[in-house]
Amino acid sequence: MDKNNFKVSENSKVISVIVPCYNEEKALIPFYKELVRIIDNIKAYTFEVAFIDDGSKDKTLDIAIDICNKDKRFKYISFSKNFGKEAAMLAGLKASSGEYTVVMDCDLQDPPSILPEMIEAMEQGWDSVATRRCDRKGEPPIRSFFARKFYKIMNKISQVDIVDGARDYRMMCREMVDAIISLQEYHRFMKGIFGWVGFDTKWIEYENIERINGETKWSFFKLVLYGIEGIVAFTTVPLKFASLTGVLISFAGFIYVTYIVIRTLIFGIDVPGYASLISIMMFLGGIQLIALGIIGEYISKTYMEVKNRPHFIIRKTNL
Ligand code: UDP
Ligand code: MG
Repeated sequence: MDKNNFKVSENSKVISVIVPCYNEEKALIPFYKELVRIIDNIKAYTFEVAFIDDGSKDKTLDIAIDICNKDKRFKYISFSKNFGKEAAMLAGLKASSGEYTVVMDCDLQDPPSILPEMIEAMEQGWDSVATRRCDRKGEPPIRSFFARKFYKIMNKISQVDIVDGARDYRMMCREMVDAIISLQEYHRFMKGIFGWVGFDTKWIEYENIERINGETKWSFFKLVLYGIEGIVAFTTVPLKFASLTGVLISFAGFIYVTYIVIRTLIFGIDVPGYASLISIMMFLGGIQLIALGIIGEYISKTYMEVKNRPHFIIRKTNL
């Protein structure tokens, strides 16, 4: 072996690439080819890539193992069941050892071709290079609409900055990865965590790319639940909102009661009023249930956190 060459790779910085995969048998090989095409040209760095198989039910794991057998830069971790992308990212971050770590989807919506640009920014001293898509091309309009509203509300009511269109595709320095791992919460909302830990982040924008094949794992309903998760994890404003609504409605109720009492004293007993009574009852009932629901969300999250369950269970790995 060329001694000089050996030295370069020995001293070169390691970049860890973390790739969460869930039922991605169709995407894995094209992804592998594209990633290798890019990292083979980045000679000054050593790459280690980890596929995190998030309990896939198709051939994803077999394909990942095949790739690992062929290419020693690739490793895999396989979960005992589907724990979700957040858990997969966490497992990858925990396993990563590189100076820089990058999280990347395997459907090529996170183009490996911008890796050189990311590395360059890291070398310029940024702690993190994040990506956001500047449009939502190819997405159902109704989904885009709710996504935009979600980001708007989220940024108003929580203290962390959550960027609209931000992807999880991001390169981070070791310190930032360690900070993210140190957050032990069970309900992880990575988009919020990235913002919460801070660090100097450079943003790169690109146009939305549609996934090469396979299907998105996010139904609209799943996205709504994920959105609620994000809100509950990063702000308690809804609780304050519930109390405030309670105060306002009690105040309005008090004024109405005073009005009724005075009116009865002046004009005598008034029998009609069924409609107004029923409307007020329904309205109050609704408000109370909403408030209870909000409190319930926080209590259930607290309950889950207190159980202190592991974020994921590894069934098989070559790490
Ligand atoms: N993913 C995962 N676990 C899940 C769902 C998704 O590891 O439970 C992975 C998936 O394989 C992909 C990435 O997370 O690499 C993003 O998923 P997807 O492309 O379905 O999301 P979208 O890009 O549509 O937001
Ligand atoms: Mg995708």
